[in-house]
Amino acid sequence: MHPALPTIRTTCPYCGVGCGVLATPNASGGLNIAGDPQHPANLGRLCVKGSALGETLDRRGRLLTPRIHGRPARWNEALDLVAKRFSDTIAEHGPDSVAFYVSGQLLTEDYYVANKLMKGFIGSANIDTNSRLCMASSVAGHRRAFGSDTVPGLYEDLEQADLIVLTGSNLAWCHPVLYQRIAAAKEARPEMRVVVIDPRRTATCDIADLHLALAPGSDAVLFNALLAEIAARNAVDENFILNLNGLEEAVQAASQVQTAATGLSGDDIRRFLDLWIGTERVVTVYSQGINQSESGSDKVNAILNCHLATGRIGRAGMGPFSVTGQPNAMGGREVGGLANMLACHLDIENPVHRNAVQDFWQAPKMPEKPGLKAVDMFRAVEDGRIKALWIICTNPVVSMPEADRVARAIANCDFVVVSDMMAQTDTTRLAHVLLPATGWAEKDGTVTNSERRISRQRRTLPSVGQARDDWRILADVAARMGWSERFAWTTPAEIFAEHAALSGVAGNLGSDFDISDHAGITAEAYDRLEPFLWPQSARKRGGRFFAEGRFHHPDGKARMIAVTPRAPQPTSAEHSYRLNTGRVRDHWHTMTRTGISPRLSRHLAEPFLEIHPRDAETLGLTAAGLARVSNPHGASILRVLVTDRVAMGQPFAPIHWTGETAPSGRIDVLVPAVTDPVSGQPASKSATVAIAPFRPA
Ligand code: SF4
Repeated sequence: MHPALPTIRTTCPYCGVGCGVLATPNASGGLNIAGDPQHPANLGRLCVKGSALGETLDRRGRLLTPRIHGRPARWNEALDLVAKRFSDTIAEHGPDSVAFYVSGQLLTEDYYVANKLMKGFIGSANIDTNSRLCMASSVAGHRRAFGSDTVPGLYEDLEQADLIVLTGSNLAWCHPVLYQRIAAAKEARPEMRVVVIDPRRTATCDIADLHLALAPGSDAVLFNALLAEIAARNAVDENFILNLNGLEEAVQAASQVQTAATGLSGDDIRRFLDLWIGTERVVTVYSQGINQSESGSDKVNAILNCHLATGRIGRAGMGPFSVTGQPNAMGGREVGGLANMLACHLDIENPVHRNAVQDFWQAPKMPEKPGLKAVDMFRAVEDGRIKALWIICTNPVVSMPEADRVARAIANCDFVVVSDMMAQTDTTRLAHVLLPATGWAEKDGTVTNSERRISRQRRTLPSVGQARDDWRILADVAARMGWSERFAWTTPAEIFAEHAALSGVAGNLGSDFDISDHAGITAEAYDRLEPFLWPQSARKRGGRFFAEGRFHHPDGKARMIAVTPRAPQPTSAEHSYRLNTGRVRDHWHTMTRTGISPRLSRHLAEPFLEIHPRDAETLGLTAAGLARVSNPHGASILRVLVTDRVAMGQPFAPIHWTGETAPSGRIDVLVPAVTDPVSGQPASKSATVAIAPFRPA
């Protein structure tokens, strides 16, 4: 009989809920998976994606060796080539001629090393991340309102609230364990109310007391109407508003809105305003439906304004709550993995902050300006300003807006390196150098979830082939570029200790992100590290922020932003449908992992177009037939699903399918590369399209 192998506590690598996982190696070399009852995020629960983690560890399809121009190569040869081509490009064209495009799937330690190499040693801020596509508008909204990118609340607020408003969030499918927590709380306390604001009738509506199927893109109108009503009913918190700037201007702007733009009935709007204003403990949860918009930052601030005006922030059961898409979007924010941020929530354009980080890293140079954000980065690849590009742990040829254009830009770039665990993705096939990276079960590190909780991800299986950890690959290239002393870690624990020490420097400069209690953590303590909330330092302990009314702007006050809602890009006679994009329950991103599990494909097996019955009739579409969806950026062929869950003129299609799994099912080829001017986040939530029946020749 096979001896029992020890169970290892680790963290799910999919969404930003950050569930704890118990992984037990089994006799067939895989893992048995269960929820960790001791992890505060999930208390033993897992969703179907997390439960199926053991089915996604197949070594088929893995990238097993480095490759140069498609031929297998030795690690030394590949690393030498990457270092030489980056060094030569920088020497000839300057540091801003190179770029890293990274991922919210990376562990914090990987992310830290990539950011340190680009910002501190190469001397450019051209490092951006697929998290730009997910939560950059929330970051921008937080920074405008609070003076820092600080999430005020905790998951337990979702159970303590009397009213939960979910806007732009299909939590039931995209953050299922948080949805389960709310559903359980609502069952235990039937007086709890849930409002879902979403143009679609999603699975999340199953627990809604009120579903507001508002017109796409009109969220800021609705929250402005709420702010105006708060002011009209004298429901502002007279004490808390002493901590605010901009109340009058924000209310003035809010009072201009015409609620007809929401498409909602007066009765429904009234019910929503009465519920929100009449309930002290209210949490407003928001996600991609808010963030992925050409005015995403304004939408975020329209929500924050309502919580600030009423002082409903940072106390038990109340506050605005941005739920992040990826498992380590928050960790990326902490290490400064966005092109406009510096490590530990410091400001790249602040010379005091810059000098502090430069001194700490003993770095030769630091960029003084933000680098290129994702869409601009690929534009710079397209026009030749970026001549060497390293893509790490992400698949932009599927996920970026105007994806076909991004593919052409990468194909024409002088030098492209891709680090990935999979051999064949739409992006890896365009690489000059391919570097095999370890996958979820094979690497050690930390991730931070949506409530600022840092958890260990632990190695549970041996690496596959010659795969190496991302931090090690980056450090090996840095050493070959001449910086071996500053990248000389031997374990992720040492990187985490350095990151924690830097956070102490940041804490001295006023940053909320301070985990300096862990500076100098030993390998043994890192192994044992329990999930914890930041901040964690001698100065502050994790908990809710801002209840006492102190913010991070120089005067200590929060800023309310005057929001003038903007309508989304108009439809036209030719492209008369507004396509709504989103996720399905059982797949993750571009399906490189979830696509391996047959169980996960059973729920929804192929790319599809949800369309209203009357639209289907007008267009001559039949259920289960095929539709061609197109606009000037590209075209997709999708299976027709006729349903009244979507409104007329507003079909829906999921984002996951790739050129590999369904050559015609890519959705981001249709999404225009329009961005929010404040955050740089693309408006990936919608595209205007033409639809016609498709009959294969
Ligand atoms: Fe993983 Fe998110 Fe599901 Fe939790 S809710 S098991 S983190 S995918």
